[in-house]
Amino acid sequence: MSNQHRRAAFLHEMGLGPIWSQRGTAASQADGAVKDVVVTDIRAMQTTAIADTRPAWVEQVSAAAVPMHAPVTLAASEVTTTSFADIAQMDWAQLKSVVASCTQCGLCKSRTQTVFGVGDQKAKWLFVGEGPGRNEDFQGEPFVGPAGKLLDNMFGAMGLKRGENTYIANIVKCRPTDASKRDRPPAAEEAAACMSYLERQIALIKPTVIVALGKTAAISLLKLDPATPVGKLRGTVHRYADLPLIVTYHPAYLLRNLKDKSKAWADLCLAMQTYADTPSA
Ligand code: SF4
Repeated sequence: MSNQHRRAAFLHEMGLGPIWSQRGTAASQADGAVKDVVVTDIRAMQTTAIADTRPAWVEQVSAAAVPMHAPVTLAASEVTTTSFADIAQMDWAQLKSVVASCTQCGLCKSRTQTVFGVGDQKAKWLFVGEGPGRNEDFQGEPFVGPAGKLLDNMFGAMGLKRGENTYIANIVKCRPTDASKRDRPPAAEEAAACMSYLERQIALIKPTVIVALGKTAAISLLKLDPATPVGKLRGTVHRYADLPLIVTYHPAYLLRNLKDKSKAWADLCLAMQTYADTPSA
């Protein structure tokens, strides 16, 4: 299967084939495929997805996406702390070891295992999600199950692949659940407790572009008001430290809101354009 047909297949899986798959010379050169796609698809963004008017439902969904949750609290004797300064000096092995036994927040109580992250430790592309769900907690890898399959298809549409020049991490390393044992977004306190691990991962990876998948990832990395809707964060190149950061929808959200896949693709095109424009890419 040629690169062009492979990309068309991924776009079809994203529900975008008729809109995005046949554009000029895109994907005709293996090495330059990403830049070619950016040039052609950005034009389409300008005529289709970029015409996002942020309808009321986007704001409603965004506002509902991160409800306030009381964190599970630990007794002082249950908490083991590692200083930010120590974490900032750790190598990969040390960091993985500390995370695996971490009890810095109450999410440690209900986890099967920590979900550290997966991928190329020298990746140019870093994708950050919210936290492990049931499947991830069981398997120990981020973005498995249906949302993971969609993320893999998004990678494919971008000319990327899980584990090759990509790294996937989450804001929290342990699965947040509600009183009914259902997945929930992490509370602000839980995100704050875990953030130093992700910060160290980012420092070690040194990505060229960060893509925040969903509201929790965006507001945690950008340190924004939790009430900020995703609709107001899309379409802009933000900065995490001095790295460009693009915000798009979480794949799990896209599985429930299929019509927003075209907006997500526009976000990914912006990310590819940003990557192409970065001198160190
Ligand atoms: S979510 Fe993060 S801070 Fe909380 S226990 Fe797990 S690894 Fe530690």
